[in-house]
Order: sequence, then C-alpha cells, then structure tokens
Amino acid sequence: MGELLSEWTWNVETISGLILLMTPFVFVVLERYFPYQKGLSVFRKGFWIDFVWYTLVQSFFLKILIFDFIIAPAEISLGIEKNGYISHWPLWAIVLLFVVTHDFYIYWFHRFQHSNAWFWRTHEAHHSVENVDWLAGSRSHILEIIINQTIEFLPIFFLLDIKTAAVVVPIKALIDALWGQFIHANVDVKLGRLGYIINGPELHQWHHADHAEVYHANFSTKLAIWDWIFGTIYKPGFKPRRFGVWYRFPRGWAEQHVFSVFRFNVGTWEDSRLGSVVTNLRINLLNWFLSLMPNLFQIKRLDGYEKFGPKPELYDRIQSRFLKKSA
Ligand SMILES: [Zn+2]
Ligand SMILES: [Zn+2]
Repeated sequence: MGELLSEWTWNVETISGLILLMTPFVFVVLERYFPYQKGLSVFRKGFWIDFVWYTLVQSFFLKILIFDFIIAPAEISLGIEKNGYISHWPLWAIVLLFVVTHDFYIYWFHRFQHSNAWFWRTHEAHHSVENVDWLAGSRSHILEIIINQTIEFLPIFFLLDIKTAAVVVPIKALIDALWGQFIHANVDVKLGRLGYIINGPELHQWHHADHAEVYHANFSTKLAIWDWIFGTIYKPGFKPRRFGVWYRFPRGWAEQHVFSVFRFNVGTWEDSRLGSVVTNLRINLLNWFLSLMPNLFQIKRLDGYEKFGPKPELYDRIQSRFLKKSA
C-alpha cells in the first residue's frame, strides 16, 4: 500500500456510491423473480420509514457524529494518525482482516443483545420489520449503530495511517451495505456448502422470524461460520410463517426510539388523534399538499393530455385517487 492509494480515495468513494445506487434495483428485480416470501410488495409495510428515516436521514447524521465527533477526536487525542502498523499489507489482506475480526465481534455483540433485556432495546427495532427484504437491514437503533460502527472503524484508524484508512473505510462500508442488503433480501438462495462459511438470506430470514426456536439462533452477519462453530445455527429446511417481534411495536422512527427508553401503550398512542397524525405524517403531508392545489390536476388534464399526457382513463384513475385521499 503506497502513497498512491491516497489519490484513489475520491475514486473509491465515487465508485462505491454508484454501486450503492444500483444494487437496490438488482435486489428488487431478484426479489420479484425468486422470492423467499411470495407476494411481498416493493413498497411493503414500513418501506418509507426504513428508506427515508433510517437509510437517508439517520445514516447521514450518524456518519457525521461517528466520524467527526467520535473517531476524529479519539484519533487526535490518542495521536494515531500516523501509526500505519499494517499499512504495508496488500489491500485485500487489510480488508479481509477487518471484515473477519469485526464480523466475529458483531456475532458476540448481537448474541449479547438477544440475551440482555436492556441491550435488546437497542436491537428490537431491527427485528420489528414484518416484511424482510433488501432494505430491512437498514432499520437499526441509533445506539446500536454508534456502538458497532465506532468499534468497527476506530481500529482501522488505529492500525493504518490516515491515507490508507481513507481508502479502506469506504471499501469496508460498501461491503457492509451490500452484504447487509444480501442477507436480508427476500430472495430464495441456496448457498449449498458455501453456506457453512457465508451467511445468506436463508439463515437471516429465519433470524427475523417470530418463532421461539430462533430467538437465540442465527446471529451471524457476514460469515455463517460463527453460528456453526458456536452451536447457534437454525436451518430447518422449511420457511417461517411469521416475522417481526411478538409484541406491538410502534411504526414511526421517533416512536421506535422513544419506545426503547420509555415503554408506552402503542395501541393507545397510534389510535389517538395526535398519534395518528404523527404516525401517518408522510401521507398527511402529501394529502395536505395536494389539497392546496386541487385545480392543478384539473388544469393539466384540460391542457391537452391527448398530446402529451397519459391516457385519459389513467388520468381519471390518478385523479379519483387523489380526490379520495384529500377529501
Ligand atoms: Zn437479532
Ligand atoms: Zn437482520
């Protein structure tokens, strides 16, 4: 690993960003053709919460918090920017080392979260997804991410000089994201013998099942080998019937985080007037926005859909849907 790699940083980040923009489409297509659970829609229950709040908003702010406010100050106070103990290793060996060691750590931390009542509260949100698909892995409690990513990325800055770390971090983050999408994907994959080493949807879909047999099984993230070695594998050869947690869990991002600290009656809250406004905020905002300009669609329609717009019957359908919602 030479100085040259520092110049790759920009490229590595751009390429990994582009890959991340494309993979959801690949998984969505695979989920249509080879579904693990049949009949799951792309915009399944909780899709917008997971996509907007967990994937876009939360991860944006946590990236700043973890890298700029935890890792960078730690780096400066420990004086580790120039360490570079293993910077001379080939890139593949560095990445492999961090993938395997962090995966080993996360197996045990994940197992601990399932056996400790307080730490379960940092993990239950992840299990609350009832339709597990490529996006489901993004649903993670703030604290869970802060702990896991600090433990994941700080050693990279400890063992590598800053320039090499700047290349390794985006590669590692990309591997995390892709592997996370893969193990949660609603795709029926049989890994065969590879399944003794690599984790995939078959084992992790079961981990998300609401079946008592798997409340303490299939803890692996990337490498299934830990479950096989430590005796926590569950692979029955048939598919689960129920997914999610066994108690009522709030639907909104904010409520899910409040619930982890303070238990409240979810049914009472979501049925209350304020609760239903907050829980259905996106739909409410959209309806309010549409109600401000009921004539807009009318104008468009009058403006000559024959030439440019969709077919008249489609317009009728769209319009009747909007009118119904904003009524
Ligand atoms: Zn779990
Ligand atoms: Zn999961």
